[in-house]
Amino acid sequence: MSGIKGKVIALTGASSGIGEATAVHLAERGAHLVLGARRKDRLDAVVEAITARGGSAVGVVVDVRRREDLARLTGTAVERHGRLDVLVSNAGTMAVSPFDELRQDDWDDMVATHITGLLNGIGAALPVFRSQRSGHFVNVASTAAYVVKSPQAVYAATKTAVKVLTEGLRQESGPDLRVTLVSPGFTHTEGVGKGASPETAAAMVRQRDEIAMPPSAIASAIGYAIEQPDGVDVSEIVVRPTAQA
Ligand code: NDP
Repeated sequence: MSGIKGKVIALTGASSGIGEATAVHLAERGAHLVLGARRKDRLDAVVEAITARGGSAVGVVVDVRRREDLARLTGTAVERHGRLDVLVSNAGTMAVSPFDELRQDDWDDMVATHITGLLNGIGAALPVFRSQRSGHFVNVASTAAYVVKSPQAVYAATKTAVKVLTEGLRQESGPDLRVTLVSPGFTHTEGVGKGASPETAAAMVRQRDEIAMPPSAIASAIGYAIEQPDGVDVSEIVVRPTAQA
């Protein structure tokens, strides 16, 4: 099946920012969305905005760090629509800080959200994709997967892991599956600087407000990868604001 219309797409991190923009973009193009995030009120608002405009979406409260939650997300897609065409693994956290602050809970959280979370999604969707003999993984990394800038080492390491896991998955996916890595640069979302140490957060927010691109730029890159014909695998897309060095 090529195009976006009619595809069943599960998407994590759909309650704000890039995930929300992507959900809206794909719904406007006729996809059936199964949306996951932890904040039920925000997720419900996204679902309501989509369905009020005639789109198809359902929300599932999901913490990607929990294996069973990803199984529930993909299971909801299969229960409601009989299949799952795409899993977009987008959930993420940018709680960056210098090593000396020893914010070890934040380090653990980035590892759990980006690495374990991605693996939980692969574990939940791969058997479905294999049984259908079709499916598409879209994994959201970052330009931080290409270059580390202090004090973002832990974040960059986990996003580098996303890049490596995606490439390995692509190599093992065979002719039936598609695997895409999307790496955003500075994007104007509430997540920039959220949970980061105060000085770092202020610098990130300042830079975001000066140079960031809108989340719709990433939504359309994800849409581009999804809408290609079955045999066409868009392996890697990096999108950054022109002002980002
Ligand atoms: P937001 O904070 O707006 O969005 C992050 C989303 O992830 C939210 O929907 C949040 O929902 C969800 N999320 C976080 N942790 C979990 C979890 N454990 N389980 C389920 N959902 C979770 O930020 P962005 O839109 O900017 O971030 C989206 C992705 O893009 C992230 O992976 C981020 O690293 C990446 N990125 C962003 C860039 C930017 O400049 N904005 C640049 C490069 C990459 P909730 O809290 O409700 O669970």
